[in-house]
Amino acid sequence: MAKEAITLEEFMKGLRRRNPGETEFHQAVKEVMTHLVPYANEHPKYLRVKILERLTEPDRIIIFRVCWKDDKGQVRTNRGYRIQYNNCIGPYKGGLRFHPSVNLSILKFLGFEQIFKNSLTSLPMGAAKGGADFNPKGKSEDEVMRFCQSFMTELAKHIGENIDVPAGDIGVGTREISYMFGQYKRLTNEFTGALTGKGLEFGGSEIRKEATGFGCAYFMEEMLKYRGESLRGKTCVLSGSGNVAQYTALKLIQMGAKVITMSDSSGFVHDPDGINEEKLNYIMDLKNIKRGRISQYAKKYKVDFHQGGKPWNIPCQLAFPCATQNEINVIDAKELIQNGCSGIAEGANMPTTIDALEVLQNAKILFAPGKASNAGGVAVSGLEMTQNSIRMAWSHQELEERLRGIIARIHEKCVIYGKGDGHVDYVKGANIAGFVKVADAMLAYGVV
Ligand code: NDP
Repeated sequence: MAKEAITLEEFMKGLRRRNPGETEFHQAVKEVMTHLVPYANEHPKYLRVKILERLTEPDRIIIFRVCWKDDKGQVRTNRGYRIQYNNCIGPYKGGLRFHPSVNLSILKFLGFEQIFKNSLTSLPMGAAKGGADFNPKGKSEDEVMRFCQSFMTELAKHIGENIDVPAGDIGVGTREISYMFGQYKRLTNEFTGALTGKGLEFGGSEIRKEATGFGCAYFMEEMLKYRGESLRGKTCVLSGSGNVAQYTALKLIQMGAKVITMSDSSGFVHDPDGINEEKLNYIMDLKNIKRGRISQYAKKYKVDFHQGGKPWNIPCQLAFPCATQNEINVIDAKELIQNGCSGIAEGANMPTTIDALEVLQNAKILFAPGKASNAGGVAVSGLEMTQNSIRMAWSHQELEERLRGIIARIHEKCVIYGKGDGHVDYVKGANIAGFVKVADAMLAYGVV
């Protein structure tokens, strides 16, 4: 152990002092530092130049006012953010979230996680995250468009294909990206790949909308394969019914698994016969086009709707949290284990609380952290950047194969750093594998 060795407690004390009240950010950093502090103690070259402290401090934080007019002609004001976290291995890259809960703590946790996720993909992408406390729910098309245009009027000053390339996240799908890209193009008079998740007609990539969910199912399949098992015939519970949940469900169904729950912020539906592709199409139309509630599925298919509930008490073999942060707590984790769940892949970012994570890891079930299992989305965003740069569009099949290969390689890296006493600790594996590449680049750059 090096003489400059540090403890997790000391590190977290300093971080909390520098970032008071930012609980989600503290949580995300603690989860990562649980593995990075011991690793850095064994590799003192990182300690000597304070890589861990520098890694937790964003390069810059941009906060701005977003004014727009609603359909009644009233002026509304929201707060916009872009956190440019780290660009050591490529231009800043990460999604935009539009949700009333958006604040600095949530975006810092997401931007920090993005460092490791983007590094794991092996593509040249730095890390960022942004968004606004704007609630798209209940807004008209025109209101969403006016908000997106106003938001981009400020954000455009800070992004660009070689600087920072935002994408979607909660509340930001193809519709919002299209409005923002239209405004960016108008302001800059350039057609460049400054945003990803664009429509296929104007520089978007095949498989991008499917990528996060497909990647999540593939990652679970890789973990099962490593144990000599497969997805076929497995009963799965999912939360969420947005982009990530929809395409996780689709790929699970295509690979022979049975999906029995999906949810939104009002509750979950339980369909014991399984949500097949036809029923999933109904959900996609309901959520993406009609912008309705998941309870309408229960009415249509005459199944149970659990108002305000989460699906984690429904017996299953595999679970996929695909809605939002901290949706699996200790009680949920214990229930999942008691009911026979043997594997979890996080589709959402940090859906598991730290205490719940401990319970799940002690039970030695397969557990894939979001930075590994939901990296498919940003990976295909990286491929969208490449296609825009070389002015080419690869086929659906080619991109799906590339995605599958990237997920398999992320799995391999997690195994390299996370393997021990007959069990793979995927959280440790992902944290260290994601760290090494970025940290070595920081070392090479000197003190900047
Ligand atoms: P969407 O906006 O498409 O869907 C979000 C889903 O989660 C909706 O069903 C929504 O319900 C539900 N939800 C949101 N907030 C809450 C809440 N507080 N409680 C319960 N349910 C909630 O977002 P995405 O599918 O894109 O994102 C889901 C997660 O995946 C997020 O954690 C995101 O950061 C992560 N992720 C997304 C990627 C992407 O490519 N889109 C990439 C990597 C990670 P309702 O309709 O009622 O709001």
